[in-house]
Amino acid sequence: MPAWMRQSRERIVALQRRQARKVKFSRSWRALAKRIAREYRKVAQRTDNWARETARQLVAQAEVMALENLDLASMTRSAKGTIDNPGRNVAAKSGLNRALQDAALGRLATWVCVKAEEAGRRTWLVDPAHTSQQCARCGHTDKNNRQSRDVFVCQRCAHTAHADLNAAANIADRARACETAWRQAGSPPLPRPSPRLRRRRTDTARPRLAPA
Ligand SMILES: [Zn+2]
Repeated sequence: MPAWMRQSRERIVALQRRQARKVKFSRSWRALAKRIAREYRKVAQRTDNWARETARQLVAQAEVMALENLDLASMTRSAKGTIDNPGRNVAAKSGLNRALQDAALGRLATWVCVKAEEAGRRTWLVDPAHTSQQCARCGHTDKNNRQSRDVFVCQRCAHTAHADLNAAANIADRARACETAWRQAGSPPLPRPSPRLRRRRTDTARPRLAPA
């Protein structure tokens, strides 16, 4: 979590605590609601800037991008629900962390698709099933392979890796399969991401999908 996001979180939590002590819908309660809403808008704007810049750097380093095909629309919606509805009081720090981080990852995925498209590069959105349980070396899938949040140890071939790196290798493998299939099909034109992706408030359109 970047420092500015943590600072925003602290400010929001502090404002919500102050608000909780006020009489609901009183003048001072409403003034605090306004400040909380402003803080949410600020963090949403910063998140978007961070996501756009990070996506630009990532896309500059790679010809082909691979992402898990997570339900970004609903991720974005849930985070927006939080951001647009500060009255809902996501005071619990961990809940707020989660909402801010989900929103950031959703924005990042969206911008990766957009920036890759602008650069004439491909983004493959791969099936996310079992990416964290499958062994990247031998393909064995077992939930016991994931020993803890960070540690992956294959129960069949003993391949050991950081769980995130193992999952990333699986995602890359699946994207390579998409890339190969696409080349074998004669590199047909791919559907472009809808321009609606660019508009912040209505970006429910899905980015480019990998062919089946
Ligand atoms: Zn294995």
